[in-house]
Amino acid sequence: MWRSIILGMQEASNHNDNSWPEAPGRRPEPEQESIAIGPSRIHGLGAFARMDLACGTRIVEYLGIRINKRESRRRCRENNEYIFYLNAQHDLDGNVPWNMARFINHSCVPNCDAEFIDERIWIVARRDIAAGEELTFNYGYDLQDYKEFPCRCGSPDCVGFMVAEEIQDQVRKRH
Ligand SMILES: [Zn+2]
Repeated sequence: MWRSIILGMQEASNHNDNSWPEAPGRRPEPEQESIAIGPSRIHGLGAFARMDLACGTRIVEYLGIRINKRESRRRCRENNEYIFYLNAQHDLDGNVPWNMARFINHSCVPNCDAEFIDERIWIVARRDIAAGEELTFNYGYDLQDYKEFPCRCGSPDCVGFMVAEEIQDQVRKRH
């Protein structure tokens, strides 16, 4: 299942492929000062705000390796759940050690959004976030195989499955 930014899809698909930075050797700045990794009440390890973050802050880039669709399908079959839809030709595999954003859990009522900005994927504060809060965003899964991805985000409005905001009501009606 690919993660996706449904609202930003149009913008992403318009990008010229050559504009995406060369992926395999690219390393970011090692420090990701605004987040800390630790045990999560939602699932496994999570990412937490190390400081107060104002609404709209670009918190951390979702880094990874750009792969073609064929390779993406192969990695999905191997249960790689860190792959983001980029455009019609390519996806981004975020399952790399330098991608701290891979620890951010899904929530049905998240405090962050994944957004395409300047041809990259950023995790952006969707509201003011207090130091110590766990960061979450919606993984944007579609209806295909969504039942394999139950959600335990703990929010009162939890849909029960990790689906994109646009289809949450549809899925609620089914269950
Ligand atoms: Zn949920």
